Amino acid sequence: MLLSKHGEATTLWHVAKVRDVVKRPLITVDGNASVTEAAKIMADHRISGVVVTERGEPKGLITERDLVTKVLAAGRNPDKTKAGEVMSSPLITVDIESTLLEAVDLMNRKKVRRLIVTENDVVVGLFTIRDVISLSRVCSYCGKPIKPRLPSQPASEADVVVECGCGAVYMMECAKTVVYCIFCSGKLVAEVYYPAPEDTFSG
Ligand SMILES: [Zn+2]
Ligand SMILES: [Zn+2]
Repeated sequence: MLLSKHGEATTLWHVAKVRDVVKRPLITVDGNASVTEAAKIMADHRISGVVVTERGEPKGLITERDLVTKVLAAGRNPDKTKAGEVMSSPLITVDIESTLLEAVDLMNRKKVRRLIVTENDVVVGLFTIRDVISLSRVCSYCGKPIKPRLPSQPASEADVVVECGCGAVYMMECAKTVVYCIFCSGKLVAEVYYPAPEDTFSG
């Protein structure tokens, strides 16, 4: 179980649902498109996996790993290889009302890092391990876990943290103490943000 030492976080995994963190809309590529086109879509949207459709119906998933193992390492021409030929299928789906714990458990059992999210049996988005990881951050100064906040929850003063341009995150109290980021030495300006899952699909 994730973060079992921290009471609050454990509750989050049980209570929070895939609905709270899923990124929409779903980015897709037609199965007849070339692998090059699929790779361009992934690059443009800065995502590591794209859903492959056939006649509009989601049929599989192409990930960075598929591009490496099934195209590059296999010596195939990405311009002449169709997306549908290298996709991974079937899709592993999770219902949008599932808890994060159920979704992570499914990822572990199926040994995948991405799940297709369905709502009333319609595919609506992608849920990645990155979405889960982004909920678990620690203060770069004191090392204490930063209380995860879901996008659907209202933010409170206690949730406020300071994020440095280098990616380091500090609790407000610690940011006042260090002033200069311990990783990049940059001045921690009061660029306050509220912790939330970010980095769409980039799992
Ligand atoms: Zn701290
Ligand atoms: Zn920094």
